[in-house]
Amino acid sequence: MDVFRRNIIAIDGPAGSGKSSAARLLAKKLGYLYLDTGALYRAVGWKALKEGMNLQDEAAVKVWCAKLDLTVKPDGDGMRVYVNDQDVSGEIRTPEVSRAAAAVAVVPAVRRRLLGIQRAIGEKAVAQCGVVVEGRDIGTVVFPDAPVKFFLEASPEVRVKRRHRELEQQGLTVDLSATRREIDTRDLKDASREVAPMKPAADAMRIDSTALTLEGVVSAMGEAIFKKRSEIAD
Ligand code: C5P
Repeated sequence: MDVFRRNIIAIDGPAGSGKSSAARLLAKKLGYLYLDTGALYRAVGWKALKEGMNLQDEAAVKVWCAKLDLTVKPDGDGMRVYVNDQDVSGEIRTPEVSRAAAAVAVVPAVRRRLLGIQRAIGEKAVAQCGVVVEGRDIGTVVFPDAPVKFFLEASPEVRVKRRHRELEQQGLTVDLSATRREIDTRDLKDASREVAPMKPAADAMRIDSTALTLEGVVSAMGEAIFKKRSEIAD
């Protein structure tokens, strides 16, 4: 029997901080659902690019975005995302879609719509098992009452290398300086936007993953979860 009132683990952090890999592995170890909220922003960004949406016209974006059918399905240790039943999980990983995701993420109507979707998926998972949710505003806005929150960080050099490796693994050839520009611009945009900016929640545990292996990060998370569970049980 789990002593957590709500089995939600929130993981936030900038691009390349290692949060996706850590969230996936942690979810697997806990037997929780893994929810990658960035994939939802990417899916909206992908669709906006495809349809040439004018993101300045917030009223139009609100109507447009309300009609989008966005769904996710667990897939092995990961997750697939669908827009109007089309599986876009592969297409949303390009640098172009990363930029589009950060652009749609500043639009309040998009954030409101995705907030509802993220909470609905999370609540359903909590009722069944639990959920590890990763993003930029999970501990601050989406699930501010999550019992355990992490904010992952890493040096800029390591983050650029990780992101570059990720793109190479997808068969994309992008030079290192372009990758650095991509994540610098995106992180600045994510941290400085007016609605739900990326920042650590006041009660988040900060983990610097620069010198840690993936197992090292997840084991630090496991210890923090164990400690929190013991505190709650006392
Ligand atoms: O995590 P990922 O790099 O896939 O996220 C893509 C973009 O989606 C981020 O740069 C950010 O602009 C946006 N995002 C967000 N809030 C979240 C998750 C992602 O604004 N919770």
